[in-house]
Amino acid sequence: KENQIENIRRIIKEKEIRFIVLQITDIFGKSKKVTLPSSQLDKILANEVMFDGSSIEGFTRIEESDMYLYPDLSTFVVLPWKTHGGENTARIICDVYTPQGEPFVGCPRHVLKSALKKAEDMGYDFYVGPEPEFYIFGLDENGNPILDSNDKAGYFDIAPLDEGEEVREAIVLTLEGLGFEVEASHHEVGPGQQEIDFKYADALTTADRITTFRYVVKKVADDLGLFATFMPKPVTGIAGSGMHLNMSLFKNGENIFYDKNTEDHISQEALYFLGGILKHVKGYLAITNPLINSYKRLVSGFEAPVYIAWSERNRSPLVRIPAKRGLSTRFELRCPDPSCNPYLALAAVLTAGLDGIKNKIVPPAPINENIYSMSSKEREEKGIKCLPKNIFEAIDEFSKDELIKDALGAHITNKYISAKLKEWEEYRQIVQPYEIKEYLKEY
Ligand code: GLU
Ligand code: MG
Ligand code: MG
Repeated sequence: KENQIENIRRIIKEKEIRFIVLQITDIFGKSKKVTLPSSQLDKILANEVMFDGSSIEGFTRIEESDMYLYPDLSTFVVLPWKTHGGENTARIICDVYTPQGEPFVGCPRHVLKSALKKAEDMGYDFYVGPEPEFYIFGLDENGNPILDSNDKAGYFDIAPLDEGEEVREAIVLTLEGLGFEVEASHHEVGPGQQEIDFKYADALTTADRITTFRYVVKKVADDLGLFATFMPKPVTGIAGSGMHLNMSLFKNGENIFYDKNTEDHISQEALYFLGGILKHVKGYLAITNPLINSYKRLVSGFEAPVYIAWSERNRSPLVRIPAKRGLSTRFELRCPDPSCNPYLALAAVLTAGLDGIKNKIVPPAPINENIYSMSSKEREEKGIKCLPKNIFEAIDEFSKDELIKDALGAHITNKYISAKLKEWEEYRQIVQPYEIKEYLKEY
């Protein structure tokens, strides 16, 4: 730690850093920050920066509002752009602590750390590589995003094909400037849809990076006069945006999902982990897919999962096992979308998988046919169940899954459930354009 501090002091001096951004994430996955002049470095390093927790959604009640930011020095990075009219700025991700010096139960990063600790106690390191997808839209003359990507003329007017490439390249360069190893970036299926994949890392680093990634994508698009969204299904009838999670467990530097002695080179532990992932998916879906809109992505025909099944080949199931083996042996969980809180999502998914290992949960047989094109009778015969169809069903399942609730803790669980039910209640009462179209004249 002394070395880290020394290093930070040196960089701040050498690079003439004027500001330090301290960043946290709220329960609903939104990044929050407070900016301090770099003259306050000692205070930051002494864990003395305070903020008002009651003004952050889902954090605390007014009467216990003082919270402290404990910087995680390993996340220190100099931002590769100037802020505040040309100043150099650094960023540190923080954990939230109470005035008593305890980790705050409403801090999502703490939830993930606790889940990782349990994995560590079993001898495991959890590695995750995400595949976030998003849309880049143009802006109209008033600066509002234009959603109608189906309107080819409009779409090409605002964002010609190569503009997608330009913005993608700008994002990749900025991410590299922040120390990301970007592995691939490509246009996705939808008009204006993009995907940028970065290298897998331990789950905490990956969750931190997802929050940084979302910020960078939005910032770079904005700088170029465009608009980026991680909304899971921005346009009816075209591909939604997922954030597949490629997951593996390591023990002493070895990928324990790999076993050269089995027929498909997948280990028994991996299969149990998969069993847990499938068993609890209904319980954690509200976390990996948090919005009312998330469920409009989870429909047939757009490469998004609808059914609880796994496969070694096709892309309709919930979990796919990519062909790579050895160190790269992994499961690709396909339900999560990029609007989720990555800390809570990874904590929930890991906890589900570990439950599979602890209780030797055997997964069902793989389904290698296209599930979208099966009849409901065929699916029933094969015992293939559906994912929850909306956030209300998902929250109901979450509230019945003690394991997942326990992983998130009572504070977050309660705040999360009540916020989501409120959202659903508001939505449920709104008469939708669909209803006017179908019913107004008809009845
Ligand atoms: N966009 C698809 C989804 O909603 C995924 C496409 C892919 O396989 O990369 O999950
Ligand atoms: Mg993709
Ligand atoms: Mg994928």
